Amino acid sequence: MSQNQVAPSVIRTRCCIAGGGPAGMMLGYLLARAGIDVVVLEKHADFLRDFRGDTIHPSTLEVMHELGLLDEFLKRPHDQMRQVDGQVGDERLTMADFSHLPTRCKFIAFMPQWDFLDFLAEQGKRYPTFHLRQKSEVIALLNDGERVSGVRVKTPEGEIEIRADLVIGADGRHSIVREQAQLAVQNLGAPIDVLWMRISRKDSDPPQTLGRIDNGHIMVMLNRREYWQCAYVIPKGGIEEIKAAGLDAFRDEIAGLAPYLRDRISELATWDDIKLLTVAVDRLEQWHKPGLLCIGDAAHAMSPIGGVGINLAIQDAVATANLLAPKFLNGTPTQDDLAAVQERRMFPTRATQWMQIQIQDRVMSRVLGSAQRPNFPWQLKLLRAWPWLRRWPARFVGMGVRPEHIGAALNEKR
Ligand SMILES: Cc1cc2nc3c(=O)[nH]c(=O)nc-3n(C[C@H](O)[C@H](O)[C@H](O)COP(=O)(O)OP(=O)(O)OC[C@H]3O[C@@H](n4cnc5c(N)ncnc54)[C@H](O)[C@@H]3O)c2cc1C
Repeated sequence: MSQNQVAPSVIRTRCCIAGGGPAGMMLGYLLARAGIDVVVLEKHADFLRDFRGDTIHPSTLEVMHELGLLDEFLKRPHDQMRQVDGQVGDERLTMADFSHLPTRCKFIAFMPQWDFLDFLAEQGKRYPTFHLRQKSEVIALLNDGERVSGVRVKTPEGEIEIRADLVIGADGRHSIVREQAQLAVQNLGAPIDVLWMRISRKDSDPPQTLGRIDNGHIMVMLNRREYWQCAYVIPKGGIEEIKAAGLDAFRDEIAGLAPYLRDRISELATWDDIKLLTVAVDRLEQWHKPGLLCIGDAAHAMSPIGGVGINLAIQDAVATANLLAPKFLNGTPTQDDLAAVQERRMFPTRATQWMQIQIQDRVMSRVLGSAQRPNFPWQLKLLRAWPWLRRWPARFVGMGVRPEHIGAALNEKR
């Protein structure tokens, strides 16, 4: 099924995955590896989008190791973060130390997400049962009575239908799959949005990725070698107020948080250089219906807090493949099989979202609503007094709750 071929109007497959993000690409790769015919549909022409995290967690790296892909993967340019530092006012603190994790890689790898997804696409292409179709946007679900039986897809060559034994919604926070399936969404609320911008980087700048909190402002700076990818946190809906104050005032705020950027701050030439990313935290009450299962952000939209959404999406994909690959190999997954995926992944989802909500409501909202210079809360100061305590946040961020492992059914079939 190369991109150059004229698309037939109806394609049949065992599993059709809507969305080529971390959840969809990992699941597509794993099912194809187990010998199951799978079509992954991605609406964009490539994976080059800015609004995605760059974090590959120790638990995801462990999965790569179990798949025999780790060495190849780590050849791609990346940075390794072995501890997480935070700066509040002038005070700096190590908040998480990954060096004691029971994983092969005791670091978070920072790699642009498009490189990670490209890598999975390249690996997937080794299997004849893996079909990635880019520029293919799911626009509707197809139903056979009560059962979802496929999707309608918009492509540059016109609309096509993909018929499948199972449709997976892995199409992210604004999932059309979950909307069309009318699955009930529980909105957990997110009081923040993020302004996303890039400013060039000089060799004389500090090397680390860093979170900074000061005088009512929060900013995270990701080191992408030639430039800084900056995530500036604002109260939800606060963009109009920021724009009303003017671009100069905004540039001043950014340079105040990272003074070494002052000589380049004019790179933010217009508001077009600053993108608004809306943050949502929600989850489906039921992730499935006959013929359909949602995973990743489509099942539970994650806040950027803690940088754990990608990891959770990957872990969902591994659990789904572990549970459903044997069912595919012996027939078609039943509604009970789909429920088993939700049952396995609901607890990690609830626990992770609970933690994100505590941080966004108790820390971020307070910082953003205050003009005073903040201090580290006493709980975090304990991390300085007893460094071994840093292992707990490292475990939560680095491995997540209930890390998944590659099961026997996912062994290579060629
Ligand atoms: C501002 C921001 C920063 C973040 N930073 C981090 C971070 O640093 N680390 C981290 O772990 N998490 C981060 N997150 C959370 C993380 O991005 C998500 O949890 C994670 O990407 C979810 O993966 P996914 O595969 O489920 O969905 P997504 O990554 O959203 O992927 C969905 C894919 O589906 C495609 N798609 C959508 N609709 C259709 C359609 N109709 N047809 C076909 N394809 C479609 C999209 O183009 C996309 O490629 C951040 C979130 C935000 C909002």
